[in-house]
Amino acid sequence: MDKYYVTTAIDYVNASPHIGHAYEKIAADILARYNRLKGKDVFFLTGVDEHGSKVEKAAREAGLAPQQFCDEMAARFQQSWQKLNLSYNRFIRTTEDVHTRVVQELFKRFQGNGDVYKGTYTGLYCEGCEDFLRERDLDGQGNCPNHRKPPRQTREDNYFFRLTKYKSRLREWLTSEDAPVMPEGRRKEVLNQLDDEELGDFSVSRSRQSLTWGIPVPGEQDQVIYVWIDALSNYLTGVGFLADQAAAERYWPADLHLIGKDITKFHAIYWPAMLMSAGVPLPRRIFGHGFITVEGQKISKSLGNVIDPNALAEQYGPDAVRFFLFAATPFDQDGDFSKKDFIAKVNAELANNLGNLLNRTLALVEKNCDGRVPAAEMNLDLREEANEVHVAVDKYMEKLEFARAIEAIFALVDQANKYLNDEKPWALFKESKSDAGKQVLYSVLDVLRRVALHLYPFTPSLASDIWYQIGYDGRLEELGANGQGFWELIPAGQAIRNRGPIFKRIEE
Ligand SMILES: [Zn+2]
Repeated sequence: MDKYYVTTAIDYVNASPHIGHAYEKIAADILARYNRLKGKDVFFLTGVDEHGSKVEKAAREAGLAPQQFCDEMAARFQQSWQKLNLSYNRFIRTTEDVHTRVVQELFKRFQGNGDVYKGTYTGLYCEGCEDFLRERDLDGQGNCPNHRKPPRQTREDNYFFRLTKYKSRLREWLTSEDAPVMPEGRRKEVLNQLDDEELGDFSVSRSRQSLTWGIPVPGEQDQVIYVWIDALSNYLTGVGFLADQAAAERYWPADLHLIGKDITKFHAIYWPAMLMSAGVPLPRRIFGHGFITVEGQKISKSLGNVIDPNALAEQYGPDAVRFFLFAATPFDQDGDFSKKDFIAKVNAELANNLGNLLNRTLALVEKNCDGRVPAAEMNLDLREEANEVHVAVDKYMEKLEFARAIEAIFALVDQANKYLNDEKPWALFKESKSDAGKQVLYSVLDVLRRVALHLYPFTPSLASDIWYQIGYDGRLEELGANGQGFWELIPAGQAIRNRGPIFKRIEE
């Protein structure tokens, strides 16, 4: 069985999860569910980044010891992800002992290869980014452009990693045919960063005085490993590196690291260089997605527009949130969450187009076919159209073009609605043309089966509800594992279960 290993960025626990964090985690869940449906052995890793000075500071402000603070925040993240119906296999926390072992082992391998040396770092450091900045990275006011705060001037004795040694190998990898960094614009950006002569060896430790909450350099008390080295290593810890060799060999290399576009440098330059030094194979793909704004504004605490994904999922259900976020915006670009658009879109597509198609069809089957899928051939035009949609959806899903996949699925729903309206099976049954009427209903039922399968990664509970109402027993996701296949049409004689609307219109 093929495997598929997908990861998300791990979020700092200094603040509660917001819709921007949720966006990426849902995307990973969509891919995990999609690949499970394909019959793959999927490992989906997500988690939190618990080390670093800003977490320590947040703990102090909350009046808690750092570990206790992290425990509470990690629980809050997990609770949110459960409410959004995320099917991760492992939730990793960087304060786990097993992770400390991995980070220290990697550090020792760098040392063993002569890739780490002692030096003095003088320059600017932004705590928000946990990154070293240059004068020309700053905005007009001398602030970090991401955090609108001046970076700190630091001078410290640190360990440095010989990034320069790996630059040509990195270039080779980044320009190789299988395009490890996507989308293409991000790859170009990373290549430019790599060519920049100022991108040299980077500091991989901090002095204990400036950072106490972190993993110590092996065998040293006064040096703490740089938080990005710590964080990136989670992708190895997560699949059992050093702890469960069989699992690590099965799942590594990662098939996809899903990340926000702002941390591409760390993932597409630092991380592969670290892996090269440690003698570990490189990930297959890195995808830097766009960001979500709220009502046209960047999400920020000071603007007071932080949307709690928990509250949203509680109020409208996880399916509506998941659906809107990926239907409304191409994943590689920035998108916006506006409540008005959200309500309009889910009402139009989920309640009206899809919900009505299902309910109308089931009511006709109850009335005219004794509540069972009639025996008939699928209409050839509709079948051809549905087959084309299947091919298109697969193509889009492989390229993470979620909005286009959803658009194709709903074009099929529209087509089925039109077919039902044009053919008027209710009239056919009245005119005693029941064979023709049965063919229409059979054809639409099979479209509904396909739509449930296509939509499952995006709206798992709604899709499972359709699956159940058109008469299937057993979980929809088992289809892939059972090898039942997508191409097997809905069986005649199967008893449908008309249980009312799959999505209740949102009235505001
Ligand atoms: Zn910053």
